[in-house]
Parts: sequence; structure tokens; C-alpha cells
Amino acid sequence: MNASWILSPQERKALRRKRMLRVGLVAVVLVGLLSYFVSTPRYRQPLSASIETVSEPVTAEPLEPALKLAEEVTEEEVEDRVVVHAITNGDTLSTIFDQLGIHSVMYQILAADESLLALDVLRPGQHLTFTFDEDGSRLLSMELFIDPGKQVLYSRFDNDSFGYEEIIHPGQWQQQLLDGEINGSFYLSAIGVGLSEMETANITNLFRDHLNFTRDMRPGDRFQVVRSRQFVGEEFTGQSRVEGVRILRRQREHTAFLFEDGSYYDDKGESLARAFRRYPISAQYRISSAFNPARKHPITGRVTPHNGVDFAMPTGTSILSTGDGVVTRVMSHPYAGKYVEIQHGSQYLTRYLHLHRILVKRGQTVKRGERIALSGNTGRSTGPHLHFELHVRGRPVNPITANIPMAASVPKDKRNDFNQLVEQLVAVMENGSHKIAALETNR
Ligand SMILES: [Zn+2]
Repeated sequence: MNASWILSPQERKALRRKRMLRVGLVAVVLVGLLSYFVSTPRYRQPLSASIETVSEPVTAEPLEPALKLAEEVTEEEVEDRVVVHAITNGDTLSTIFDQLGIHSVMYQILAADESLLALDVLRPGQHLTFTFDEDGSRLLSMELFIDPGKQVLYSRFDNDSFGYEEIIHPGQWQQQLLDGEINGSFYLSAIGVGLSEMETANITNLFRDHLNFTRDMRPGDRFQVVRSRQFVGEEFTGQSRVEGVRILRRQREHTAFLFEDGSYYDDKGESLARAFRRYPISAQYRISSAFNPARKHPITGRVTPHNGVDFAMPTGTSILSTGDGVVTRVMSHPYAGKYVEIQHGSQYLTRYLHLHRILVKRGQTVKRGERIALSGNTGRSTGPHLHFELHVRGRPVNPITANIPMAASVPKDKRNDFNQLVEQLVAVMENGSHKIAALETNR
């Protein structure tokens, strides 16, 4: 169960207007700080310990428009006080709120974040923007900047509650071909052509039932990866996806293509992923609250998303991982309680909330059906139950009805779509090969 709210269309509109104004104010802060740093020797103490510049490069060029924007908006909202805090190593939400002297408000924000859990992992490079009222005592909103493609705005509803709004910039996905030859290990060769460690691990994982990268790959074997990366403007958001892979060994070819259901299939349409379990439990338990992204709160009337499904069960019931994966979070949250998050390849993620005891560690590899925890009643919970979430490509879906890789191959009625996709991706790979072949013959 959770009790965080998303905003009505009217509230959202009003907030967006305020947000635009605040962008101007942040610009004022940045411009102010910049001129301060430019005109002040580095060793001097900053104006305030809690104010830091964001890590984005601020060049001389955009200063003028930023100033202009600030001037235009000063009339109405100049009273608000804006503090930007750049996340650095060792920061926790608690230390940041303590610095600002608003520790009690943190729990109201954490309550709003219960169904997102976006604040549980803060990373250097992200920042928090706090907006206070005119006398600086009351927090009106806080924005978490996750990456150029994703921000979350927490805004005050009333004296003791906040709501949230996810701000998603879809940006543009840019496709590229990475083409390499085995020279040393697959890992080193893959990193050598520009794949990230995570992408390399995911590819190794994808073929693990078919290919042993250490034993089976030889010098001279080739690999081709079609990868898309998300950009907002010129900036890479950190989000990427591997859309197609070909491994060309002397005698054999291995392929993987990402289909619209989020699963990888070979060129014949056979699934590469191991099947998922539908349920994280071995017996049947009553669903006490269904998945409902638009659930209305009975008292406030506000939309209260329920991003998972609740199973009523006695405390101490064994909780099983629904798929093979890696434990990415073992956390204790004031409202979500003790919880575990597991990443299954690059597309799927599961969360298990309100646990009594956790039996796994962060970074640990788990198998489908492996016991990971005992159910409980921790956090804000009205009775012993498990709250279970399934995310596909970063979005929560209904775990009871979601199209998860349980099927062994692409369904018949989707075959044409799939074959077209394979054709397109192979064409990208072939084109790349021709270019390389042409280069080689020119030498
Ligand atoms: Zn729930």
C-alpha cells in the first residue's frame, strides 16, 4: 500500500507555470554564483555551505539569455528562495535536509516518494533544487534532477503532504553500430569498441545458455552490436539499449534482437531469455490490493497510484525471485519498509516491499525461484502483506497481466513485425560490414 499522490491536471498546469518561473530563478542563482566564483579567489568559503553550483558547464555564451529570462520573471515570484544542492559522494537525503534545517519535512517527501522510490539512490551528477517561500522557512517544492531525460518534482499540497510529478523528456534515440573483432577476451574487445561494462555484461548474460564467451570465442571471431542511446539536446542521458547483436564465429552465428515486448529473440524468433515466474510466492495468496496507476484516494480524492500488487500473507512467508538477476537494492524505507530490488537483464526489474527479513545482499546474483526474503509488515503497512512490483523498461506494469517472457518464441500473429525488425537491424549490420570491407580493400 502507499499513500503518495500525483497531481490533477489543474494542479500540474499551475505547477508547470511556477516551474518555468523557477527556472529563471535558478538561472539567477547560477549566474550569481558564477560571477561570485569568477571574481573571488578559489580558497574563500562559498556564500553558504548548502549552495553549490550544478556540475553542468556554464559557458559565457548562454549567460545573456539566462539573465534576460531572469529579469522577465522577477516580478511575481522573486520572493521564493531557491537552493540548488549538487549531490556529491557521501551525501544522503538526511544530511542534505539537516544542512538546510528542514529535517521534519523529509518524511513528508519520503511519503510522496513511496511509490517511486526515486530518492533512495542519489548519485554524484544529480542535483536537488529546493524552493522555499519568501521568509525561507517553508519548503514549497523540491526537484530531483536524475539525468537530462528525467526529473521528479515534489510539490507541497498542504501543511503535511507533498505530491510528485515525473518530468520525462523523451529526447531522441540515436542508433549506432559497434563492430569489433575478438582480440583477447570478449569483455576487453567489447569495451574496446565503446560498449559499457553494463552493456557487455547484459550481452554475455543474453547468450549464456548458448555460448561460453571465455571458452568458445577465438581471436578473429567478430561481433556486431546495434545500440541506441538517448539524447536530450546534445546531452546523453545515460540511458541506452542494445537492439541487436550478431556474434560471428567461424562455424556458427548467434543472434539476438530486442522485440517490442522487451524480450530478446534469435533470428528464428526463439526466445533467448529464461522464463519468468508470474508470482514471487509458491502458494496462492489473496490479492488484497490490485495494481492501479490511477487509484483514487478515498479521503483526499487525489490520484494515488498503486504501482504494484499486494498479496495478503502471514509474516515469515518465503519470497522468491521471479527471475534470474542481480540484487540492485537492499534498503529500509520509512514507508516502503525493508525492501529488495532485482534487475533482470536490461529490460526487467522487480521490487519486493514491507519485508520482515532480507536473505540476500546487494550485488548478489540470484536464480529464478530462489528464496530472497521473508514477508513482513514493515514500513507503512496496514497488515502483513507483500507489495510486489514489476518494471519493464523503467515503467511499472501490472505483474499479473504483463507480457513477460514465459513464451518460448515470438507469437505467430507477431511474426511479420518481428521479421521486419530483424531485416532492418541486419541491414544496419551489413552496411557497417560493407564499409569495413571497402576500407580494407582500399588499403
Ligand atoms: Zn502495495
